[in-house]
Amino acid sequence: MNKIANGIINLLYPTVCPVCGGAREYGDAGICDSCSKNLHWITAPTCLKCGKTIDNAEDEYCSDCKEIPKSYDKGFPVFSYEGPIKDSLYAFKYKNQRHQASFYADCIMEKYGEELNHLSLSGIVPVPVHKNKRRIRGYNQAELIAGELSKRLKVEMYPDYIVRIRKTNPQKELDANERMKNLKNAFKIGENDVKLDKVLIVDDIYTSGATIEACTQALKNKGIRNIYYVSVAIGKGYSVWK
Ligand SMILES: [Zn+2]
Ligand SMILES: [Zn+2]
Repeated sequence: MNKIANGIINLLYPTVCPVCGGAREYGDAGICDSCSKNLHWITAPTCLKCGKTIDNAEDEYCSDCKEIPKSYDKGFPVFSYEGPIKDSLYAFKYKNQRHQASFYADCIMEKYGEELNHLSLSGIVPVPVHKNKRRIRGYNQAELIAGELSKRLKVEMYPDYIVRIRKTNPQKELDANERMKNLKNAFKIGENDVKLDKVLIVDDIYTSGATIEACTQALKNKGIRNIYYVSVAIGKGYSVWK
C-alpha cells in the first residue's frame, strides 16, 4: 500500500497503544516499544499473601502483610504501580478510557490465567464504588475489568454482589491502620440469595490492601470460604504511600 493510502487509513482507523494512548501505525497492534520496555511486571520472589515483589526470597511475606495480616487467601497483582501503567490507570479511571479494560484483562490472563482457571472460582466480584461517585464518573473501573475477565475465565461476574454503603473519607493522608478503620463496615453483601463459595475480587490498584480487606470481611461474614483478589497494579509497599 502506498504512503498516502496508509496515511488515510491511519486517520480513519487510528490504533493506539493501550498503555500510553499514543498513535500506532495501521496494523501495528498492541503496546508501543517505549511502554513495553517500561512496564514493570511483578517478578519473583513475591509475598505469599498479597503477591507483590519482595527483596528476599527467604521472607514469606512483605512488611505490609507482616504488619497487618490479611484474611483473603491470595492475591494476583500484575504490575508494580510505576512507569507508564500509572498514567494508563489514571486515564482509565478519570478520562473515560474504558476500552483499556480489555488490555488489562489480557495481561491478567497472560500472567495468572492458568492459576486462576485452577481455582474453580464460583464468582467474580468487582470492588464497588459508591453510587454517587458512579453516577458522576459514569462507570466503575473495577467492574469493567471484572467483566472482561469474566468472559475470559468463563466465570460469572456479580457486579452488585458487594455494595458500598458508606462514603469514606479520602484515604491519601491515612496510615494503613487508619485506612482499615476508615473502611470498616463500608461494604455489605447486596445479593444474599446468591450462594458463592470461591470468589475473586477485582480492583484496578492495590495500595495498602485496606479496601480488599474490607471486602473480604464482608464476604467472610456471609460464610464465603475462599477469597482471592486480582489487581492490575500494586504499590511497592505501603510506606511509599504515606
Ligand atoms: Zn505506549
Ligand atoms: Zn504482602
